[in-house]
Amino acid sequence: MFSHKFSILFLLLPVILLFFICIFFIPILSNKYNFNVPNNYITIPTYSISSSGFCWPVPGYTTITSPYGYRTSPTYGASSFHAGIDIAANPGSYLVASLEGFISYVGFNGSGGYTIILENNTFTMMYCHVSPNFLVYPGQIVNQGQIIGQVGPKNVYGVPNNPYKDSNGNPTNGATTGPHLHFTLKKNSQAVNPLDYF
Ligand SMILES: [Zn+2]
Repeated sequence: MFSHKFSILFLLLPVILLFFICIFFIPILSNKYNFNVPNNYITIPTYSISSSGFCWPVPGYTTITSPYGYRTSPTYGASSFHAGIDIAANPGSYLVASLEGFISYVGFNGSGGYTIILENNTFTMMYCHVSPNFLVYPGQIVNQGQIIGQVGPKNVYGVPNNPYKDSNGNPTNGATTGPHLHFTLKKNSQAVNPLDYF
């Protein structure tokens, strides 16, 4: 009787051990597969999904400094029809994919400065004035809410033939007067007001 109980315990031991090993690795694996984050990240931003199925592109920042529509151009090269929204945010703030999709472009894109473009079959999302330290690459499939980049600095150096400069003559991250996210949303290639979708 004693030896029978003992052998059951002996058989269960590796199972129990395996269970604890699995529990230990779950957080590591979930971080690895859910988010594409830089090595030195501090916090993963939380996001919520709107009734239209979109999530806000720059978690934690909701101040719109320039809405969608006609405006007086704030700086050389900035359009008088503002085809997106400007969201004030500190440089380095994380940007997340508003929808699941694929990355169709990363690079310096004229007045948009360093830009990430995310697309699916219907929508195109342009993230402008971002950090040149891109966290995604063209062709990459990203999940909704996945970190794809960071808000960029006002000034960028080393871009060939960059015509955009601040009042001190320093080159800027596209047509911009300070760090922010410019977010353009297109539906079937037509710009729409992003705020109608959040
Ligand atoms: Zn803008």
